[in-house]
Amino acid sequence: MKGLYRYPEDYALRSASELDLALSAVPAYRDWRAVDPGPQAPLDERCAALPLLNKAHLRAHGLEAFLAPGHALAEGLARGAIDTVSTSGTTDEQMVLTWNQAWWNASEAASWTLNRHAAQAGLADHAEALLTSPLSTGVPSPDGKPLAMLRRRLGRFLYLNEHLDSAAWPDTHIRRMVRELDAFRPVVLEGSPTLLARFARRSVELGLRCWQPRLIVTSYEFPSRVLLRQVRRAFDAPIMSSYGCTEAGCVLTQCEAGCFHQNAAFARVEFQPLAARFGKPGVGRIALTSFGNPWRVLLRFDVGDLVRLRPPETPCACGRTDGIVADAVEGRVNDVTFDARGQLVTVDELDRRASGVNDVLEYQVTQNATDSWTACAVCGRDGAIAELAAALGDLYGGRVAVALVAAIPAEVSGKHRLARCAASFSEAMFEGPMRAP
Ligand SMILES: [Zn+2]
Repeated sequence: MKGLYRYPEDYALRSASELDLALSAVPAYRDWRAVDPGPQAPLDERCAALPLLNKAHLRAHGLEAFLAPGHALAEGLARGAIDTVSTSGTTDEQMVLTWNQAWWNASEAASWTLNRHAAQAGLADHAEALLTSPLSTGVPSPDGKPLAMLRRRLGRFLYLNEHLDSAAWPDTHIRRMVRELDAFRPVVLEGSPTLLARFARRSVELGLRCWQPRLIVTSYEFPSRVLLRQVRRAFDAPIMSSYGCTEAGCVLTQCEAGCFHQNAAFARVEFQPLAARFGKPGVGRIALTSFGNPWRVLLRFDVGDLVRLRPPETPCACGRTDGIVADAVEGRVNDVTFDARGQLVTVDELDRRASGVNDVLEYQVTQNATDSWTACAVCGRDGAIAELAAALGDLYGGRVAVALVAAIPAEVSGKHRLARCAASFSEAMFEGPMRAP
């Protein structure tokens, strides 16, 4: 990349004031002061001198350590300014975070301006249906039995699914979700790609016609092409991928032309490229600084995801020019795999290859060793499994045995992964400074 991205006028000021606030008065960043070159130094230089924050730091410091001055956790909870939420996952991944609904709403509303379909749908107090694992958001069934619709209505939201295992949904559940969409008539249907695809696939097989929302938003998981094409068979609405996290709000939003644009009024994004030996210029990890959330001052948070930047000299067709533009969110750093030559394969690259085989409905690749890969897949046609094995073998440069399965199980978190490689993450995968691109 030759040029630099353009940012809104007040971006540098917001970045600097968040930095000053954190370093001067937020306990979690006390140790960072020693390495700060000081307010007279250029912003990029100051940022580059500081460490990154990660989930382990968030857990170790606790919620109080991230509050801006004048904010007390007990008081905020008591008057309903904030709530606490637990993120799902294994013991290592689980975390309790403060949830500032007003700030989240503002971050989300700003993200809607980054997609024409979202902007035109007049979103504000719209009815929204969610189709996710109840571990991600919503209302889990305490005993595995169905919950009445009224129990799953919260404010303007309807949580369509209360069951932990979407692979075991009976047809009665599919029919109920179709009926509830008809009755609730949501403007937006938001969900995890896996659950949206499972619902879409089965409702088409059952000959059911779904209520058509104005917009479908995918979140929570990597938006696999094989899943989205199943969603498109049941829904005509445009599909928008929203990239963000509980910690940092809505960060990147997919525009109507397919690129991801930075929600620059609410988040600063820094980028560190993958090491040059991987031969993927423009692909790297990101660190997030959020703007204006006094209940969690978040600086340089290493969220654990890879993006592929679009060169600033090649603007997106939609015409938006503020902030970074990514051609793709490439998936989690922890989900990268490696081919036989040791070259890194991102989830997006894997997905592009797997989705080249028609009638692959779900898949997951596991790298067991540097030269050993296995996969499992759900296929809608005889022959697809052999084609998938050939495509993956070509991608990795070795034999990949693919097992035909009825469904890919979810992780402990309730989310689905397309690739697993326990030993993949290493700081040595990246090189050069983490900076605003
Ligand atoms: Zn665009």
